[in-house]
Amino acid sequence: MMPRRRFLAGSLASAAVASPFGIVRGAPVIFDADPYTLGVASGCPREDSVILWTRLAPRPLEEGGMPPSPVEVEWQVAEDEGFARIAAKGVVRATAELAHSVHAEAKGLRPGRVYWYRFRAGPAVSPVGRTRTAPAAGNGNNRFRFAFASCQQYEQGYYTAYRDMAARDLDLVVHLGDYIYEKSWGTRHVRQHGVGIPTTLAEFRNRYALYKSDADLQAAHAAFPWLSIWDDHEVADDYANDRSYTTRDPEQFLKIRAAAYQARYEHMPLPPSARPVGPDATIYAHYRFGDMLDLLLLDDRQYRSAPACVKGGRPTTVADCEERTEEARTMLGASQERWFDARLGDRRGRWTVVAQQTLMAEAKRKDAEGGDRFWMDGWDGYPNARRRLLDSIMTHKVRNPVVIGGDRHAFFATDLKRDFSRSREATIAAEFVGTSITSEGPGESSIRNALAGNPGLVYANGEKRGYAVVELDARSCTVDFEALDDVKDARSAVRRLATFVVEDGVAGVKAA
Ligand code: FE
Ligand code: CA
Repeated sequence: MMPRRRFLAGSLASAAVASPFGIVRGAPVIFDADPYTLGVASGCPREDSVILWTRLAPRPLEEGGMPPSPVEVEWQVAEDEGFARIAAKGVVRATAELAHSVHAEAKGLRPGRVYWYRFRAGPAVSPVGRTRTAPAAGNGNNRFRFAFASCQQYEQGYYTAYRDMAARDLDLVVHLGDYIYEKSWGTRHVRQHGVGIPTTLAEFRNRYALYKSDADLQAAHAAFPWLSIWDDHEVADDYANDRSYTTRDPEQFLKIRAAAYQARYEHMPLPPSARPVGPDATIYAHYRFGDMLDLLLLDDRQYRSAPACVKGGRPTTVADCEERTEEARTMLGASQERWFDARLGDRRGRWTVVAQQTLMAEAKRKDAEGGDRFWMDGWDGYPNARRRLLDSIMTHKVRNPVVIGGDRHAFFATDLKRDFSRSREATIAAEFVGTSITSEGPGESSIRNALAGNPGLVYANGEKRGYAVVELDARSCTVDFEALDDVKDARSAVRRLATFVVEDGVAGVKAA
């Protein structure tokens, strides 16, 4: 990290001649404490741009502790860690309306290279973050490496996985949801939320601030650009569109969803165009990384049909019913389905990674009488929506489709098929599910039960917490499952649990 005092002194000394930041307007701002308590972050990398994020929050757990007035925040992007060669700079107005968060779009950058960035508000200078733009097509980029992560219930363990991740050489981090948890659950807590379930904007802001106060999480944000999607716990357990078993009145629930979506926007490196409008926000997106990768980020929460076969109750694992296989049932909603199909027709990368929330492969369970039971919150509750998605991949003859997911708090490697009951059926895509950063996994018996009755599941492990690293090159996609010895130990070691490979032109998972 750049020594902050040196940067500050240098800036002030040169201010009288020509400020490296340009002209600062507005009243001078004085902080009684460090306002960068939540760190810095970057995200949404394109060939020529990246989004820079921070939030001024001298008292993070008290709604930030900022006065109501706006503050001008300067930002700089440099080609070198010492900020001798500035590549882009600007000024953003941080307002109370958005919790004094900063979302700056740095443009005019060069493709496929590392940059460093920092912020200044009055005399307060931020820590330095490192980021990387997307490589350009035809640039001869022959390797792309990213990590994916999900499910980080704060009370259940330490973010040691992020400390390990931050020390690696990665081009990108993809977060697949459950970045915060609204509720306390699980056993042997190592730290506390300290308050109940958030429903207001102020309460969601404080929940994000608590999670983002973690130094290991901050380190992973400061080290790499991130792309992220949400799952359910950013709002409420197992919600579907405007339905929630915890808040039965849809109108009331949409108020909670609006507060939750806004707080998430305020705390993530997202472009100003991603700001929610009331209870609506578009998060599905297409990112290109040169000739190597097309990354499609999906939203299977905001537009999905109500859970089947549970009569408005919690979508748990229940016996099948006719509603589950109704053709019209959707996970993505009609317009996102059309968008997904069109994006598949406009890809350039050797690899197409579909980043979504949960396990896509069928994982039915046998009950005591030998009947099939399905978990209605996942793709098994929406089998025709899953079939349409896989049909799109087949129709467009996608060369190397790889699906990644989270949510299940277990590692999975699977072969996705149009009909999972026919084990000889051709595999359409490989799938990898990362475990959780901290959140408790399923019991061993449920993993054993799933592996026994579902031929699409190649591998499953629910015992370990951790994350996954994906390395793409011209010949293969290699996926490493990285696992903590003990999530309750802040100094736990991280070890490779398993490695799988997808070979270029060959759908499906192979053990490395
Ligand atoms: Fe989760
Ligand atoms: Ca979830």
